[in-house]
Amino acid sequence: MDTLPAILGGTPVRPEGPPDWPQPDAAVTEALHRAIADGTWGKYHGPHVAALAEQLAASHGCEFAIPCTSGTCAVELALRGLQVGPGDEVILAAYDFKGNFQDVLTLGATPVLVDVHPDNWNLDPAQLPAAIGPKTKAILVSHLHGGVVPMPEVMQIARAHNLPVIEDAAQMPGARICGRVAGTWGDAGILSFGGSKLVTAGRGGAVVTARADVAQRIKLHTQRGNEAYPLSELQAAAIAPQWNALAAANERRAANGALLISQLQKFDRLTPFRNALPGTQPGYYKLGFQYNPQAFGGVSRDAFAAAVRAEGIALDTGFRALHVTHSSRRYRAVGDLTNATRADASVLTLHHPVLLGNAEDIAQIVQAIEKVRVSASEIMAANKHE
Ligand SMILES: *Cc1c(COP(=O)(O)O)cnc(C)c1O
Repeated sequence: MDTLPAILGGTPVRPEGPPDWPQPDAAVTEALHRAIADGTWGKYHGPHVAALAEQLAASHGCEFAIPCTSGTCAVELALRGLQVGPGDEVILAAYDFKGNFQDVLTLGATPVLVDVHPDNWNLDPAQLPAAIGPKTKAILVSHLHGGVVPMPEVMQIARAHNLPVIEDAAQMPGARICGRVAGTWGDAGILSFGGSKLVTAGRGGAVVTARADVAQRIKLHTQRGNEAYPLSELQAAAIAPQWNALAAANERRAANGALLISQLQKFDRLTPFRNALPGTQPGYYKLGFQYNPQAFGGVSRDAFAAAVRAEGIALDTGFRALHVTHSSRRYRAVGDLTNATRADASVLTLHHPVLLGNAEDIAQIVQAIEKVRVSASEIMAANKHE
């Protein structure tokens, strides 16, 4: 094996690069052929969106599913369904998808940012009580990077204050959290069918809810002669077979995720986003890690990610924290957000397609990381000269 890291001119561990996404899927091809044959590919209305809505509602065990243009749009619709508006506050984690923050602003409400848990950098329910005040209208929680938010705790606090919860399962469709499907704990759940997501139509999303009033408000808003929100028939036709195959794909990703996590234990301070919750099978849109440069010869997080990427592994830096990238006039912060600040600087995420591979694919990830680790000082030196 070539021990010179690819970023310094050596041969990459995976010269072909990470697996493409989406991967070819015969069931999707067939569904799209059918949508072409029946003419619905070019119609406003047809059976595919309605069938997908039923499929999503059934698999979440809730009455309503509203497909729409994106996960970001789904969050906006869920906020509208809960009647969030100007003057209201919505609580979310300071380390979260930035579209969620934007959605709160879109409705004229104020994001209230709470810190994340030190173990897995997902929203820390213990921070919620201090954030709740007279203007609080909703709590928005996201399960991120293979870490999950402990929903029983969130719901207990939310119910005690009579507050609705939006559960963003865009990164974890079909995951189970304490025995229950992700997205079904709160008052509305969010799915995304964006181009990088586990189930994709290039674009798309959905809201799932058991609340008739929420579903009704969303339907009114999206059918007011302003048809800016619907998913297309063709998108729905592509999503349906992927949804059927999701449970099996999730199991494969979970098995490979567990294998990878066990093999990475030898790298001290590359700590996976953890879940010690019973009855939980997280989803892996991204497999997240807390990175500490001390274990890698002082190589910065960004330089480490670049070096591993050069080996053909899809390892990226995580989100920017919301309080770091937005003016403090835009939000209210609760506490000092120490862990979210750490997450901003230290998250690494592995993109999911490789987790559908085999043991060899997993071994290559470990090999790439090891290669970068042993050449840490050379990588540091090369970065200094730039
Ligand atoms: C991807 C994602 C969304 C929504 O994404 P769209 O690209 O708008 O479909 C929402 N929340 C989280 C946590 C995400 O990762």
